[in-house]
Amino acid sequence: MGEIVFWTIIRTALTIPAVWILKDYIQNPLWTIISFASIYGIIIHPAIIHYRLFNEKNKETIESTLCSTCTKFDKTAVLCILHDEHPTKDFLPCEGFDWEPISTEKDDISY
Ligand code: SF4
Repeated sequence: MGEIVFWTIIRTALTIPAVWILKDYIQNPLWTIISFASIYGIIIHPAIIHYRLFNEKNKETIESTLCSTCTKFDKTAVLCILHDEHPTKDFLPCEGFDWEPISTEKDDISY
């Protein structure tokens, strides 16, 4: 996830000045269209594509591993917060020893 944010920032840092420089060479209505097209095509669309690929690649880890039911798992980064490592379907950083189940509403009811 950090990689997606990093490259989005880099593309933004390159695109915005380039579009700004183009302002002096292109007339306004066309410049506006080119600006929006560039911002979408160079910054937004690739970020969306990369985010979808990231989710697709990590879908199994996010949905069906022991980590996916653990309180120490950050689904947005696919990261074990306790061990600061990225679990996969074949690799659990704690090997199950530090697993702490997410409590459900049903578990919280006291009798
Ligand atoms: S503590 Fe263990 S089970 Fe929980 S997220 Fe980390 S590696 Fe997964």
